[in-house]
Amino acid sequence: MTDTTPKISSIEKVCHDNECGEKIAALSPEQRELFKRFTFCPYCAAELILICENCREQLNGTDFRYCPWCGVKFDSSLDE
Ligand SMILES: [Zn+2]
Ligand SMILES: [Zn+2]
Repeated sequence: MTDTTPKISSIEKVCHDNECGEKIAALSPEQRELFKRFTFCPYCAAELILICENCREQLNGTDFRYCPWCGVKFDSSLDE
């Protein structure tokens, strides 16, 4: 069976630092929503990176509609 429906995922904003990653993972859904607008990590001040939620590969743009690594479609929650 061939499934041609694009899988939908979203762009996630994370910090390079694993310790920050744990803190970010513990945030409430509301806080994580707000986190997507941040440019720098509130825990270590490093610039946040964007990754594909599906394959965890780094992305270099917030306006991507599809993941260049795994092909999932991103929902448009980042562009307003
Ligand atoms: Zn950090
Ligand atoms: Zn991906």
